[in-house]
Amino acid sequence: MLKVFYSKNQSVKNNSSFSPSAGKPELVVESWKKRGQEFHIQEFTPSSREDLKLVHSSDYVDGVLGLKTSNGFGNKSPEVAAALPWICGSMVEATLDAFKNKSITISPTSGAHHARYSSGGGYCTFNFLVLAAIKAHQAGAKKVGIIDLDCHYGDGTQEIINRLKLDFIQHYSFGGDPRLLQGSAKWIEALPGIVESFNNCDLIIYNAGVDSHIDDPLGGYLTTEQMEMRDSIVIKPFAQKKIPMVVSLAGGYQKDEDGGISKVLDLHGFMFNAAWFADKLNQEVK
Ligand SMILES: [Zn+2]
Repeated sequence: MLKVFYSKNQSVKNNSSFSPSAGKPELVVESWKKRGQEFHIQEFTPSSREDLKLVHSSDYVDGVLGLKTSNGFGNKSPEVAAALPWICGSMVEATLDAFKNKSITISPTSGAHHARYSSGGGYCTFNFLVLAAIKAHQAGAKKVGIIDLDCHYGDGTQEIINRLKLDFIQHYSFGGDPRLLQGSAKWIEALPGIVESFNNCDLIIYNAGVDSHIDDPLGGYLTTEQMEMRDSIVIKPFAQKKIPMVVSLAGGYQKDEDGGISKVLDLHGFMFNAAWFADKLNQEVK
């Protein structure tokens, strides 16, 4: 059964920020429960400081967790600091589980790809995408792919890869693809080829941001139909080849008139649905 690595410790209800990301894990898991597609909520342990220091400077990690340095939301909220090791733990353990079982897992987490070696920003504090890649590499994955389809360029991810010379990571960021200038249809046409270029990876980390939607205030290019196609085009081929995959949420900033985030939740539902069917396919092949 599809595993979602979720703990209430990773959600922050009252973070004063334009971004709803800190409170999103709880809302997104609730919305998936209403779909009627059975899944398993998997418990996990938070990441240690030692692990966080595999991707960040010791001063930065201690500063953020000790409330002396601003987090990626630009505040020193104790609630955010308490949630961060859980957010990273969700991603790391979902990744290791997918790798071990040659399966697909979900980590309902956001806020990684702008986080650099010694600073955060753009709602990102710790780069759990790179952390998960390093932990998977330590567990035996020779090559790890990060397919980042959030609307914005994963500058933090690339900075850490370059600085720490993490040659085992293959990184693609939607936000840095010049093909977008030719329109969303051209990009969708190119997507199967982009996905195929990751076939030699032992594990795929898919950062499935929904701020790439055309109505997103901080996005966006893709129509609702193209968003649904996107998640299917990325997820299905790896399941067919039994290449392990972990999926995270990343950005999404559309607000309803009453301040809710139902549009964002609907868009994340496309990813959930594609992952759910990929998991079924995996079970049948086993
Ligand atoms: Zn974004």
